[in-house]
Amino acid sequence: MNLGIVGLPNVGKSTLFNAITQAGALSANYPFATIEPNVGVVDVPDERLDKLSEMYNTRSRVPAKIEFVDIAGLVAGASKGEGLGNQFLANIRETDAILQVVRCFENDNIINVNDSVNAERDIDIISTELVLADLEWIEKHNAKLVKQAKADKTKAVELEFTKRLEAHFADGKSARTFEVAEDEQEFYNELSLLTAKPILYVANISEDEISDYSENPHVKAVAKQAENENSAYIVISAKIEEEISTLDPEEKEMFLSELGLEESGLDKIIKSSYDLLGLISYLTAGEDECRAWTITKGTKAPQAAGKIHTDFERGFIRAEVVESSHLIEEGSMAACSAKGLVRSEGKEYVVKDGDVILFRFNV
Ligand code: GDP
Repeated sequence: MNLGIVGLPNVGKSTLFNAITQAGALSANYPFATIEPNVGVVDVPDERLDKLSEMYNTRSRVPAKIEFVDIAGLVAGASKGEGLGNQFLANIRETDAILQVVRCFENDNIINVNDSVNAERDIDIISTELVLADLEWIEKHNAKLVKQAKADKTKAVELEFTKRLEAHFADGKSARTFEVAEDEQEFYNELSLLTAKPILYVANISEDEISDYSENPHVKAVAKQAENENSAYIVISAKIEEEISTLDPEEKEMFLSELGLEESGLDKIIKSSYDLLGLISYLTAGEDECRAWTITKGTKAPQAAGKIHTDFERGFIRAEVVESSHLIEEGSMAACSAKGLVRSEGKEYVVKDGDVILFRFNV
């Protein structure tokens, strides 16, 4: 699962991406992360995993990971091939969600492509490009569908739907504000539209404002945009994140507390991104290894087991489940069992975020 970082030039994308790759450097046991210069892999912060690793004095702590792809170069006119235009749009199409960095810091030394800082306009430029790209995409799709519908009457329903969607894009509106009925969902998903991807806005403010940005009008504009389309937003200073990413954990904590912050902006971004993608983690814990496994919300126990090994899914018998908070509180599985906190769950069990699981299976 990955997120594409987009934004106009000079808004702080590279600075943020640097922070991501530096923070991820230690865990970059990902061959392609070094091959592909625009992919950064970071650990998903997880306090439960930290506590369990400590409790078991484990030999190996393996956090969940998430990928960010730097998609530089999106400019006004991209959908018409300006800049590196279509290439970038194609890169965005391959991501699962979008992280849009919006410049909310004033600094006369840093040239804004459009001469002044204006978050609302910047968001609008990017959304317009994405909507235009979706419009072009669906026009082509519909041209084919019209031909098919002549020969195949069953295509009429789909065509009616995609025509409505085309009109919506032609009005300059994003897919996010388009209502899709349940029986249309399949058509919709197949289109893999750019403006249908979940989006997280990142308001990049000046490091001087990090403790109080309540008066920043650009942040307000980002907040309003996010609210209008039911998206989320996060306020950070990319500059600070870049500095934090070079610190070791103790220094990081000190630095953050000096700024009066509980967690770094990057940690917030990672957690929100995970959430945006509909992901949760379950855990396995022991002396050999404590590990967080990524699954999508709603995954049932056998499929969750399949993340560890296909044999676990095929031979699934049951899952022994305890909430991580209980395990951390009680200090051992045995203590949890004694208190009746370990449940035996079957095939239909929907795994919850933070479950610690031991799978029983036939080989
Ligand atoms: P990109 O073109 O979107 O990748 O933008 P960059 O990351 O290269 O940033 C453009 C300029 O803005 C650089 O000179 C950065 O140092 C500066 N910049 C980025 N984030 C911040 C920030 O949070 N505070 C300040 N003061 N400058 C920043």
